[in-house]
Amino acid sequence: MPARIVISADGRKAFESWRLAFASVAPQLSVCSWYDPAYTVGEDDYALVWSPRPDHMERLARMKGIVCTGAGVDHLLAHADFPRAVPLVRMGGEQTARLMADYVLWAVISLLRDARTWALQQQQGQWRNNVCSRTSNTTRVGIMGLGHLGAYVAQALAHVGFCVSGWKRTPAELDGITVWSGVDALPDFLGELDVLVNLLPATPATDGLINHVLFSHLPKGAGFVNVGRGRHVVQNDLLSALDDGTLCGAVLDVVSPEPLPEDSALWHHPRLTITPHVASEASREVQARYVADVVACLVRGEKPALLCDVTRGY
Ligand code: NDP
Repeated sequence: MPARIVISADGRKAFESWRLAFASVAPQLSVCSWYDPAYTVGEDDYALVWSPRPDHMERLARMKGIVCTGAGVDHLLAHADFPRAVPLVRMGGEQTARLMADYVLWAVISLLRDARTWALQQQQGQWRNNVCSRTSNTTRVGIMGLGHLGAYVAQALAHVGFCVSGWKRTPAELDGITVWSGVDALPDFLGELDVLVNLLPATPATDGLINHVLFSHLPKGAGFVNVGRGRHVVQNDLLSALDDGTLCGAVLDVVSPEPLPEDSALWHHPRLTITPHVASEASREVQARYVADVVACLVRGEKPALLCDVTRGY
């Protein structure tokens, strides 16, 4: 029996747009809706999910593989009965990485030129000549998490001329990037940065890692970009660091919880730019192509590049 993709991602109403995307990029693939009352689990079914409900777990356990439309799978592994024995593959691919690199480039340059102040001045109709002469080639950017996305972003920033370093769990070498590894190296990595970018996955080891202690290792007035997960950051510590000048500003694409509550102090902070978790989401067609390739790889009995290690949590 040929492989079939059973789609629950983005809810019942999104199925038609997924169906059209698969029809245009992988017409040989059979797809069906998770919510179709006539659907029964077949022998070669692969699920495409984003945020499945607890009552989906029993059926997910009968899939040959699960592909998540997000690069982070922390929300899936948080379900006590998520089927950990079924291969779980994260979203990836060139467009996802390129979008993330573009976003981080925009965020870092916004901090470098203090674009937040320009936006506030415009809102207030103020013409104030606040020239800033910091340049990319003298700015040191450090990326926490040098995985699929982090490594791509690091090299894209280095290509533009930034001085780039990165921090990860295990040692590695990356062309043109200074790589630090392990908890003990964290203070030295942080000590020489102008802008810190978070691209870690959310795991028990990284939850709350970005707190007042971490900020205290940064040179005074550094910038911060969070594109990892909101859970990494202790929100009150971030606000204090912005208020006392430890940080010059921050750009947050991810917060906790999401959506950010209306009464959150983050919304109106003059040193903060907030975007609604939009840094990197490839088009439906590109995601469908990626999913088709992942399923073909699993059908051949091979290991996809972004197969999640559920014991590590990413
Ligand atoms: P990967 O799993 O490919 O990479 C994770 C990196 O983090 C690896 O370099 C890993 O190190 C490092 N790491 C993990 N745990 C630790 C730790 N305890 N200490 C130090 N380093 C650690 O993930 P991706 O690059 O694909 O994605 C990263 C995250 O980006 C996702 O989990 C998601 O949260 C976020 N994301 C956000 C999006 C947005 O739109 N805002 C979109 C897509 C992703 P090592 O290699 O040594 O194990």
